[in-house]
Amino acid sequence: MDFQFTPKQREIYELVGALAKEKFAPRAAKYDVLATSPVENLQDFRDNGLLKLTISEDLGGMGSGAMGRDPVLYLLAIEQTARVDMSTAQCLHIHSHGSHLIDHVGTQEQREHFLLKVVEDGALCNATGSEPGRTSRGQYNLTTSAERVDGGYVINGLKNYATLGDVADFNIMFAGVVHKAPSMGHLMIVVPKGTPGLSLVPDSWNPMGMRGAASPSFKLENVFVPDDHVLGEPGVYPRERWQAKFHLGFAAQYLGGAEGIFDILTDYLPKRGTAGDSYAQLRVGEIRIGIDSVRWLIYRAAWLWSRGEIQQAELLSLEAKHRAIDNAVMTMDKAAQVAGSSAFWADSAMARFFRDMRIHTLHENLDKTAATIGKFYLGQEFDTTARL
Ligand SMILES: Cc1cc2nc3c(=O)[nH]c(=O)nc-3n(C[C@H](O)[C@H](O)[C@H](O)COP(=O)(O)OP(=O)(O)OC[C@H]3O[C@@H](n4cnc5c(N)ncnc54)[C@H](O)[C@@H]3O)c2cc1C
Repeated sequence: MDFQFTPKQREIYELVGALAKEKFAPRAAKYDVLATSPVENLQDFRDNGLLKLTISEDLGGMGSGAMGRDPVLYLLAIEQTARVDMSTAQCLHIHSHGSHLIDHVGTQEQREHFLLKVVEDGALCNATGSEPGRTSRGQYNLTTSAERVDGGYVINGLKNYATLGDVADFNIMFAGVVHKAPSMGHLMIVVPKGTPGLSLVPDSWNPMGMRGAASPSFKLENVFVPDDHVLGEPGVYPRERWQAKFHLGFAAQYLGGAEGIFDILTDYLPKRGTAGDSYAQLRVGEIRIGIDSVRWLIYRAAWLWSRGEIQQAELLSLEAKHRAIDNAVMTMDKAAQVAGSSAFWADSAMARFFRDMRIHTLHENLDKTAATIGKFYLGQEFDTTARL
């Protein structure tokens, strides 16, 4: 068993670590205020070839992502980015999520048509299934409708939380084919920026945290989507349990965020004069233990994906995500206990991390995640994509 990073993993870990410290950290407060996508950071990803992390090597990508040759590579980039700016990490995750979907579900023509624009021109992708009220209806029970017409579908509906919605070139969206059962009619479409009938809902992004991961709402009014912009057969996303392939991307964000809080705390406490305090040492130790246990759980789950042990990889990815969320919440509580009120001025990085982490850990349902693991070990029916 080898715990060493490969030379490529080391290179990406250090490259993104440097970008994060030197470029992303100084800009984080600005995008937090603006609540728009961090275009300068996205340009840095583009300039350093990091937008092609989860695209296969045959198209000039780096071959990462759950179904790629080296699943951990993009997780290292997300972890190191989240360590200074969780919003930018979500942007990198959702672009990597979208491009990986096209890479592994799209036809060869679709892969070349969309992904060569990512590899050669730095085009941006995203992936939006979310709709108002979806949590109560179930993630595959969509109100956005797809009506079959000659040569394609006509789409009508409202999507929310479309990360990178203000800058993406290729919006991957999910809609329900009318007169089909939710999971059977679950359609994955690519709607390029500027498509007639697609419009951003003004002032639809104003959360307390993750503000730099601009995720506005989209209205779709009689949007025509040609067949060559439909990814796979209806139902492919739930049938192939694609949502389970993205659990680790979220876990890496929560891990990086906890490391970011740890970095601020271990820099601040000596300056506050409390590094010698035994309770501060206790809490800092507990936070470090939590971070390191989450990290190796994520890396092991990624290793299982690289070996093609799909079910075990899905289950351990769920465990890693659960631990990462639990650890993030614990980290916030313990860090606050020993940092004290002065560390939380409204414009401080610590305050931003707390706002970002609190809202982004709600992206996933902690209890359903644990219950799914319980169902498996109790021999009950389970769904590794259950997350809302
Ligand atoms: C920072 C961040 C980034 C995200 N990025 C993405 C992304 O890129 N892609 C993606 O798919 N998801 C994304 N999500 C969304 C995520 O997947 C979940 O869908 C979302 O977190 C669920 O929020 P909720 O439970 O509050 O919503 P829900 O409970 O599903 O909806 C609550 C909202 O819907 C309204 N509502 C409830 N019922 C109805 C109804 N019947 N009709 C109309 N309105 C109704 C409520 O008033 C409320 O405003 C992101 C989430 C976060 C926090």
